[in-house]
Amino acid sequence: MQKKIAVIKGDGIGPEIVTEAVKVLDKIAAKFGHTFRYTELLMGGCSIDAYKEPLTEETIAVCMDSDAVLMGSIGGDTTTSPWYKLPAHLRPEAGLLALRKALGLFANLRPCVLYPELRAACTLREDISEKGFDMLIMRELTGGLYFGERSTKEIDGVMTAVDTLKYDENEIRRIAVKAFEVAMKRRKKVTSVDKANVLDSSRLWRKVVNEVAAEYPEVTLEHALVDSTAMQIVRNPSQFDVMVTENMFGDILSDEAAMVTGSLGMLPSASLNETKFGLYEPSGGSAPDIAGKNIANPIAAILSASMLLRYSFDLQEEADAIENAVKQVLAEGYRTGDIMSEGCKQVKCDEMGTLIAERI
Ligand code: NAD
Repeated sequence: MQKKIAVIKGDGIGPEIVTEAVKVLDKIAAKFGHTFRYTELLMGGCSIDAYKEPLTEETIAVCMDSDAVLMGSIGGDTTTSPWYKLPAHLRPEAGLLALRKALGLFANLRPCVLYPELRAACTLREDISEKGFDMLIMRELTGGLYFGERSTKEIDGVMTAVDTLKYDENEIRRIAVKAFEVAMKRRKKVTSVDKANVLDSSRLWRKVVNEVAAEYPEVTLEHALVDSTAMQIVRNPSQFDVMVTENMFGDILSDEAAMVTGSLGMLPSASLNETKFGLYEPSGGSAPDIAGKNIANPIAAILSASMLLRYSFDLQEEADAIENAVKQVLAEGYRTGDIMSEGCKQVKCDEMGTLIAERI
């Protein structure tokens, strides 16, 4: 298979961790007989330094001409970096928002996995963490409260603010289809999260999700209210496989689920559009506090590359090979500083990448 991958290393630890992800992809290419052609692009703070804007037309064009985008992370220290003295539309994050929009990315996938070897990092009680969990939260990215009409004005002498939570049936259908498609590649269970006891938008959400479910008889569907789901994530996370929800609920629940794993450097993410195209990046930020020291954990970036193979290139065996190599390295006791515990062997960022590549 021949594929074009746009590579945005970004800022902070981005270049260090993406270099390791590319190392692992190269190993996959060699072992399974594929050719991956990489084009490196600037976005975020490094693009501001080079071009005085966080995202250039050229970066957008090359991404659009690629089969997938592999990204590190963007941004700097928000209190000290000069990037944050610029107007909001010229800051690093504005580049990412504009790129997501240009690429039509509407589904954000965040797997939250508790590896048996990293149970000690889990913030939950031991009787809960010992069951482990492996859930994937799919968040709608382009609709809902964050994009609805909003206003702040004085009405009858009282300052009043309004935000609008709007979804149409097509927006709901396309993310529901993605959720069921992803569930078919996993344990075939979808939990659709809403607030249908109160919100009209949630009642439409539930109706459309039920319609889509009829096309996937192999997948078990359950509906859950967002407040109860927030509790269930800390009470019994092992019950979840794929969770699909609207923009703001997903924003909150995905951070909660990421937190309970206790290891941000382990969590990849994907943002997909209606085709096979996707942008893959670690869930964490650019970690300016540890940038340039070769101590960041590259596993989130490496698992993002695995998601890229699985969801954009349909290479299941290759994606499994990366995930198994990560599990093997953890089982052998290798750890970067962020997940280090007693009795384990601490390794640098580049060593971790090499260890994982060697096990493919
Ligand atoms: P962060 O995720 O960068 O860091 C939080 C903590 O986790 C830090 O202590 C950091 O050292 C640690 N950490 C994160 N990833 C790690 C890894 N791979 N290995 C080891 N430790 C890791 O969050 P923050 O400090 O709030 O944000 C820093 C910058 O990142 C900000 O400019 C923010 O806007 C940006 N950011 C970017 C993205 C993105 O690119 N999508 C996402 C979130 C934050």
